[in-house]
Amino acid sequence: MPRPINAYVHPDAVEHNLQLVRRMAPESRVWAVVKANAYGHGIERVFPGLNAADGIALLDLEEAVRVRELGWKKPILLLEGVFTDSDVKTAEAFGLTVATHCDEQRQLIVAAKPKRPIDIYLKMNSGMNRLGFAPESYRAAWDRARSSDGIGNITLMTHFANADEGSVDWQLEEFDRATRNLPGERSVSNSAAALWHPNAHRDWVRPGIVLYGASPSGQSKHINDIQLRASMTLQSELIGVQAMRAGDTVGYARAYKAESDMRIGVVACGYADGYPRHAATGTPISVDGVMTRTVGRVSMDMLTVDLTPCPNAGIGSKVELWGEHVKIDDVASSANTIGYELMCALARRVPVSVTS
Ligand SMILES: *Cc1c(COP(=O)(O)O)cnc(C)c1O
Repeated sequence: MPRPINAYVHPDAVEHNLQLVRRMAPESRVWAVVKANAYGHGIERVFPGLNAADGIALLDLEEAVRVRELGWKKPILLLEGVFTDSDVKTAEAFGLTVATHCDEQRQLIVAAKPKRPIDIYLKMNSGMNRLGFAPESYRAAWDRARSSDGIGNITLMTHFANADEGSVDWQLEEFDRATRNLPGERSVSNSAAALWHPNAHRDWVRPGIVLYGASPSGQSKHINDIQLRASMTLQSELIGVQAMRAGDTVGYARAYKAESDMRIGVVACGYADGYPRHAATGTPISVDGVMTRTVGRVSMDMLTVDLTPCPNAGIGSKVELWGEHVKIDDVASSANTIGYELMCALARRVPVSVTS
């Protein structure tokens, strides 16, 4: 018997969340963003939930090939484009659309002389200052791309820096000004803009995190009013129980001290499973369906919980680390991070199954 920890991936939750995005951006087509192996879920596992998407967007060429091999016939977008000549060959062979954020990438495509023109997403840096052409050089970049052999359709693209907490208008105005009168479709919105900035929906939205039921802002309260479903459950069991006396401490650094007599449960889950080590005392967790809190330091293979609200819990009691009841955003914010990171960090040693 291995340790009792297990993760569950729910493709029907992804399907449900995708429908919600569709309803919120009814005029737009949807790229389902599945980079980083579908935000740690495994592309193959979420794939059955993606049928209704118009395209699949990701970064890794190898992941793109896997998606084609799963039978996906609709578009696939490489969000960071190509890096080598052989990438262009693969993009051509598998019919991939590629983001193009610098002239070096355009030159790679031209030099590879593809027989079938490759569609590109020409990326503007409208203020994020990571990738893309500056607004003032965008039109020239578009002209060069348009007159390049081997390049097919050009879609105009940018990415927002703070769609989750502020305005996107400062970037949208930049983007609209620099693309005025340019033909082609537009794609600018990530999850946050798809949820909260309808003026930015345009032709294609690019939701990632909402498909997995977490908040783009990292705050579960921001998505309380929409019925997203968690696409990942991390579950384990109690493998030990300690009766603590007032003044006793638990775990490394004696970081939690009992104020009165209490029972502590020991959960088979630690940071080597992907649970955040920085999750503070008080992080929500459920035991036998009862919400309680973690206490003390998270260690490599174990963490400890307050059993005061669940006096009947004992060895073998079921623990939800995150999922339907324990919001991954709440665990993340208690550890000063975001749901995205926890999903992506699920450790290889955790067995994963697909369930509804
Ligand atoms: C990751 C990514 C997205 C999706 O972002 P979410 O915040 O997960 O919705 C959209 N567009 C680009 C270019 C990305 O890299």
